[in-house]
Amino acid sequence: MSKNTKTEVEKFMRGLVKRNPGEIEFHQAVREVTESLMPLILDNPQYRKAQILERMTEPDRIIIFRVTWEDDEGNFRANRAWRVQFNNSIGPYKGGLRFHPSVTLSILKFLGFEQTFKNSLTGLPMGGGKGGSNFNPKGKSDHEVMRFCYSMMTELHRHIGEDTDIPAGDIGVGAREISFLFGQYKRMKNRFTGILTGKGLSFGGSSGRREATGYGCVYFCENMFKHRGESIEGKRCLISGSGNVAIYSIEKALEMGAKVLTFSDSSGFIYDPDGINQDKLAFLKDLKEVRRGRAHEYADKFKNAEFHAGKRPWNVPADIAFPCATQNEISKEEAETLIKNGIQAVSEGANMPTVLEGAHAFVNAKILFGPAKAANAGGVAVSGLEQSQNALRLSWDHREVDDRLKDIMRSIHAKCVEHGSDDDNFVNYVKGANIAGFIKVADAMLAYGAV
Ligand code: NDP
Repeated sequence: MSKNTKTEVEKFMRGLVKRNPGEIEFHQAVREVTESLMPLILDNPQYRKAQILERMTEPDRIIIFRVTWEDDEGNFRANRAWRVQFNNSIGPYKGGLRFHPSVTLSILKFLGFEQTFKNSLTGLPMGGGKGGSNFNPKGKSDHEVMRFCYSMMTELHRHIGEDTDIPAGDIGVGAREISFLFGQYKRMKNRFTGILTGKGLSFGGSSGRREATGYGCVYFCENMFKHRGESIEGKRCLISGSGNVAIYSIEKALEMGAKVLTFSDSSGFIYDPDGINQDKLAFLKDLKEVRRGRAHEYADKFKNAEFHAGKRPWNVPADIAFPCATQNEISKEEAETLIKNGIQAVSEGANMPTVLEGAHAFVNAKILFGPAKAANAGGVAVSGLEQSQNALRLSWDHREVDDRLKDIMRSIHAKCVEHGSDDDNFVNYVKGANIAGFIKVADAMLAYGAV
């Protein structure tokens, strides 16, 4: 980065931090994007004059509300919920809902900001948004989760709609939660319409949506290897998390002939030196999707596997890392360890799983580094396809959706190559994704004038 660019980045960031005090995750996400975009913005006075970056880092609106619900003992409980409608320049707001005790406005603003670029990259007409609550579904009964979801939708329904804002799932919001939320919307509005994605297959959900983020993340990784004449077949993979994204990343990686050595949850990680096979994956799906159990139960069942309590998998030597749990789960030191151990690729299934210094380390080491907004865009892309099917009142079969997902991931990869290739043929996917995602949204904003 030139000295002038660096000065401009710091100047912009000082203003942003002042306007958004204490929102460290939001600052981190904006800084990463600004570092890539500043040279483009300095070269294009029309973006500067229209204050595009200043406007793109300010959400269109934020809705904050209380969600009161009753637990199984009859106690009243209250949580805070938000919907951040970040940018609808190229389509209605679109982005997931997260239920986790760590949820804050800063987290949702970073996610909504990232989502704007990610949705643009898919090529589909979707703006960026994100929402959620500090409600913790873990340890709650189905009835408690149901009452929480009903109460949340009782407020949220005023702010969403198939042409306005279409939420989906994220951490802590899976098929069960989406079903409760959709049921309440339908009851309140007397309308059956695609206001949420990730719905059950019998009520408007898309085939392949459940698998889309994980599959897409592996397809993106395969595209990165293919670009340099290789494949992920036979490669050793580290996967973190054991939720929706992790499980379907494991499934696709196995299908493509890779060897998966790890998965994790918030209690620690599993290292299986023999590799996870189809039978073990079936056990893991049942453990996590049906029984809502903990990671150590895998090691209780498969005796060669080791459970490492309270640790993350990044010290295990491997060829590819798929971080699929949560933000900032790869520290600078862990990124350096991965590089030292010979990692060839990192494909981010989770949103912003690598700290900024870690991402710099990956780019400087010239490994294949697929940032979240490109690598995990398959989920929202198939959500976009679910919206199209709902609008058409049709449903496409699994093959058709998967073919479209593959095409979309190929096209995202091509956009990253177009905007991120350096003179020596190295592809800086971070730069490529940020620039490609930005241009479409920025040009729409320019066209609207002072909106
Ligand atoms: P899930 O709730 O299904 O799974 C989350 C997984 O991550 C669980 O294994 C969970 O463990 C673990 N985890 C969550 N928080 C932490 C933490 N603080 N420390 C360690 N482990 C943690 O969520 P998803 O799989 O849907 O989402 C995972 C990531 O992927 C998120 O970053 C999300 O934003 C991103 N993403 C998801 C998409 C989707 O379609 N679902 C689309 C694009 C991105 P435990 O159960 O113990 O909490």
